[in-house]
Amino acid sequence: MGNLGIYIQVPFCASKCSYCNFSSQVARADVFGSYCRAVEQEIGQLPRLYESRGIGQRLLDFSVDTLYVGGGTPAIVGGERLERILNALRNRFRLAPSPEFTLEVTPGSAAADFLAWAHTQGVNRLSIGAQSFNDMELRSVGRLHSAAAACELTRQARQAGITNLSLDLIAGLPHQTEASWEESLRVAGTIRPEHISVYLFEVDEKSRLGREVLRHGTRYHAEAVPDEKFTAEAYEAARAFLRGQGYIQYEISNFALPGYESRHNQKYWRLEPYIGMGAGAHSFDGERRWANETASEVYVQKLGRGDSPIAEVRWLSPQEQLEEFFFVGLRQSEGIDLALAGRRWGAGRVARWEPTISALAQRGWLERRGNTIRLSQQAYLISNEVFQEFVTV
Ligand code: SF4
Repeated sequence: MGNLGIYIQVPFCASKCSYCNFSSQVARADVFGSYCRAVEQEIGQLPRLYESRGIGQRLLDFSVDTLYVGGGTPAIVGGERLERILNALRNRFRLAPSPEFTLEVTPGSAAADFLAWAHTQGVNRLSIGAQSFNDMELRSVGRLHSAAAACELTRQARQAGITNLSLDLIAGLPHQTEASWEESLRVAGTIRPEHISVYLFEVDEKSRLGREVLRHGTRYHAEAVPDEKFTAEAYEAARAFLRGQGYIQYEISNFALPGYESRHNQKYWRLEPYIGMGAGAHSFDGERRWANETASEVYVQKLGRGDSPIAEVRWLSPQEQLEEFFFVGLRQSEGIDLALAGRRWGAGRVARWEPTISALAQRGWLERRGNTIRLSQQAYLISNEVFQEFVTV
């Protein structure tokens, strides 16, 4: 019997950030009830839904050692609806002792009483979408909260008894300068959360801001997006700053005080099983990946009709599993164990990647120690180029 991660997706936000490329939506409050009931239905019907898509029921007997409620902005649907979903989970699954239970929170979306409720529900980790501690940067991308609101949220969370806090920051936001980024890092250091994620601002053509940047326009502060060189330097500055503050970089974008690495996210990088529920949620059992309908209306309708909300099931061949092991696992600073890969997918299959590994090591992008390979420090900023080498087309 193994362990399992569970992810619950709440895809609603109070407004759409200009850079957002997620499937989150700004919806009227009257859809929250039907959406949350649909998630409860999905949880209750998992055996039937999995059976109907040939997924099998093995994972349903695993014990849940990590739970992550994300979005979107989960708090927007309110504690009562979330509690019914959590009760459905408790009825369906066996919880491991001391599970990591993360709730994603946008500053301004969660009042002190909501945080107190979350604590009583077992939430022991809060992932806070601070993004920046500069109000101009926040406003320019349509965030509804201020830097002060993010600071206040961390204070209230600790007061509510939630002892493990994670802050998200974005390097390269419009109007960001070297000084404003240093200030955001300094404030984050003062708060001293147990965990910090630093993402590079991405110009995604599916977002409003991304489209505007690509056409060299000026709407959504597109002209104030720093160039790649700035963003790269901001990332390196964050790495140096956080290292100096005692944080350990355990993944390309993630830093933790010792012992506070995200157990849930590590499942993604280690190809461990997880089940996602809700619109657009993804699941993985080691051999198959499957995903629910992305549009929340379709997701709700399908469950209402008694149909499966699973839109796609994809079997991964052993070769594809091994490729994923390389390009997902190499995101971790500890790297990956080739001996482990050999035991799982066969030494011969792993040996076929030796020329690629040697070539990348010669370019200084990979380091090899015994059976372990990992990204070199200088390759963190060009990691996608390295990962592409492990994908056969
Ligand atoms: S809060 Fe997050 S999910 Fe919601 S619109 Fe902004 S970036 Fe997207």
